[in-house]
Amino acid sequence: MTQSGTQSDVYAVDRWGKNLFGVSDGGELVLNNPLNPTAPPVSVAKIVNEIGEQGITTPLLLRIRPFLINDICQLNESFRRAIERVGYKAPYRGVFPIKVNQQSRVIRQIVKTGRPYDYGLEAGSKPELVIALAHRLSKDALIICNGIKDTEFVRLAILSRRVGFNTVIVLENPAEVETVIEVSRELGIEPLLGVRIKLSHRIGGKWSESSGDRSSFGMNVEQLVRVVDRLKETELLHCLKLQHSHLGSQIPDVNDVRRATSEACRFFAALKSEGVPLTHLDLGGGLGFDYTGEKRAAENSINYTTDEYCSNLVETVAYAMDEAGVDHPILVTESGRSVVASSSILVFDVLGATRYDEPNPPEIEENDHHLTVDLAAILGYLGPERVQECWNDATFYRDEMRALFRRGFVEMRQLARAERVYLHVTARIKAVLQQMEDPGELNQELERLADVYHCNFSLFQSLPDAWAIDQMHPIVPLQMLDQAPDRRAVLSDITCDSDGKVDQFILADGVSPSLPVHSLPDEGHYYLGVFFVGAYQETLGDLHNLFGDTNIAEVDLRSDGGFDLLHEQEGDTISEVMSYVEYDPQDCMVAFRKMVDVAISNGTIARSERKILVDAYRESINGYTYYERN
Ligand SMILES: *Cc1c(COP(=O)(O)O)cnc(C)c1O
Repeated sequence: MTQSGTQSDVYAVDRWGKNLFGVSDGGELVLNNPLNPTAPPVSVAKIVNEIGEQGITTPLLLRIRPFLINDICQLNESFRRAIERVGYKAPYRGVFPIKVNQQSRVIRQIVKTGRPYDYGLEAGSKPELVIALAHRLSKDALIICNGIKDTEFVRLAILSRRVGFNTVIVLENPAEVETVIEVSRELGIEPLLGVRIKLSHRIGGKWSESSGDRSSFGMNVEQLVRVVDRLKETELLHCLKLQHSHLGSQIPDVNDVRRATSEACRFFAALKSEGVPLTHLDLGGGLGFDYTGEKRAAENSINYTTDEYCSNLVETVAYAMDEAGVDHPILVTESGRSVVASSSILVFDVLGATRYDEPNPPEIEENDHHLTVDLAAILGYLGPERVQECWNDATFYRDEMRALFRRGFVEMRQLARAERVYLHVTARIKAVLQQMEDPGELNQELERLADVYHCNFSLFQSLPDAWAIDQMHPIVPLQMLDQAPDRRAVLSDITCDSDGKVDQFILADGVSPSLPVHSLPDEGHYYLGVFFVGAYQETLGDLHNLFGDTNIAEVDLRSDGGFDLLHEQEGDTISEVMSYVEYDPQDCMVAFRKMVDVAISNGTIARSERKILVDAYRESINGYTYYERN
């Protein structure tokens, strides 16, 4: 095994990397092209450096086109195979839920790659429907409209049928039926209808609230019956073609999928026997993504593959429909996460490190405080047997010094000396622990003294789920992976918010509160990559501290091991984020210039300084919101 193999083991790249990622002999994290497995892998650091020379700097969101194409095909092919294997008698017609990644280039690619599969789009709001209707889908593809709908939403959905779209209005509640009846009468166009059912089965995982009786969307059985009766009454029952249910995202356990699908099938058969002419069974999203690669029913992992998911679903529906003597319905799912998660990588550079230990032994000076001398003396009895005692002593002496400083009995420079000695003792204690077979509790306590690596990104803008719901993504240095990491760090972002940090990492031996990293090189960048950020992260992000959208680059992987830059999108400038919070950058410029002019007329600055000041303000307004290296 090469040394690089050893380092990728630390970060478990082989486990979560799904054959998309690897480590080169030169110690760089590389991408494999799933559409061309014989092509040489491409280094991410190389991509970042080369496009950096073109002015597209970090923080940067890299979109890997072959990854997206591969995942769209995988889902559709998995269903096709399952249908063939089970002998299922109807096709699969999936839809991509726009909310999971609304970026136009992503949606365009999904529509293009999905066309041969009759893949459609799901819209959960008016703006998403407006977006969906701007795409030319295949003749049989669906547009599924979920969410709460007003008259305008319903009107556009119904009218779109005249242009040839199969736009399904999924009724969320009995009140919506009345809107639909009214609008379709007024337009004289029949709607294509679906009905969203609240299943009683509750799933596990982060989104368990989206399932069961108390979930916010869909109808209970009593409401369902009322809706069916109302549609009968108004002679619109023949428009009700689709039954929908959605359990929530990232279902960890495949058996939950099976149970919920069975329940959905019971409703489907029951509605059919009431004379509802259903043809489509929509089982929503929820197909999970294995962020940790652990293959288990846990929050950031799942215990099944896409193939297994598709097989379970197709088998369960086939069995239930055969039992009930009902024709196999066209299968619809609304998987978002699993289709786009792997296609984006967030890359940022580390700006600096704060260390909580001091490698160099201090020399005790004559006028050092006696507590500082006591601290240094700990090194004389430090060893595996007395390591806990040494730690207790060190902390005690250090805390005493701090107390004396607060009361005015020691000077600031005396305290600084003591803190330095303390950090050296800490480093030595860590070294002793590393040699011990069973370092115990103390080791965990000292984990909290990991370095802080200050990183050029905003957690709130680029990894909102890491902040909001403890979502974990693999994070790995993009270079130096042929060298053993010599430090451990937590990552702190560039916002002034103590929540802006990452302190949970996916490693080979489980989840760790610190990330193994290398001492920062004297020259050049130290890049970190955050993987699988294609789903949900881009538009959920916010403008905390007014850090805006990052730069985006979309690349293709070439068969010769190179890459093509397909598209670049500059991140927000300061003037753009100012407008989001309703500042007019031009007005601000004028206001600043006026203050400069006042200073000139007061004589506090020279006339010649005017241009320097005004230019600096203007340049900032037009610049990137993130840290820029000169
Ligand atoms: C969010 C959502 C989805 C997407 O779920 P994933 O878990 O990302 O596949 C699908 N359908 C509905 C109704 C949703 O609200």
